[in-house]
Amino acid sequence: MHEISLVRNIFKTLEAEFPDTYQNIRNIYLTAGELSNVQPILMKNAFDAVILDEPKYAKTILHVEVLPVIIYCDDCNQKTPVIQYKFICSICNKPSKNVIQGEELLISKVEFEK
Ligand SMILES: [Zn+2]
Repeated sequence: MHEISLVRNIFKTLEAEFPDTYQNIRNIYLTAGELSNVQPILMKNAFDAVILDEPKYAKTILHVEVLPVIIYCDDCNQKTPVIQYKFICSICNKPSKNVIQGEELLISKVEFEK
C-alpha cells in the first residue's frame, strides 16, 4: 500500500524538521493535488494503521485537503479547472497540458500542542 510509505515519509520529514518537538505535533495538514493519486480516506486509514506502531503519534490527527487540477491556457492566458480529466481550456476550448495545480503532495501546516 503506497499510502503506508507516504505516512512513514511524512513522519520522517517531520522528525528531521522538528527533531526536538515532533512529539508535540497534534495536527498535520496535507495538501494533495487530484493528480497525486492520494485518496484522503486511504491516507487516513494508513495513518491510523501506522500510529498503532508509533504510539508517539497517538494524539496526532491527519487532515487531507485535495486540490483540484488547474491548467493554464497559452492562447487566452487564463487559468481554468480541469473537469473529469479533460485538459481543455474552459474558455476557448483549446487543449492544454500546462498543469499549474493538482500534482502537488506536501505538508502544508503542522500544529503543535499548546
Ligand atoms: Zn483558452
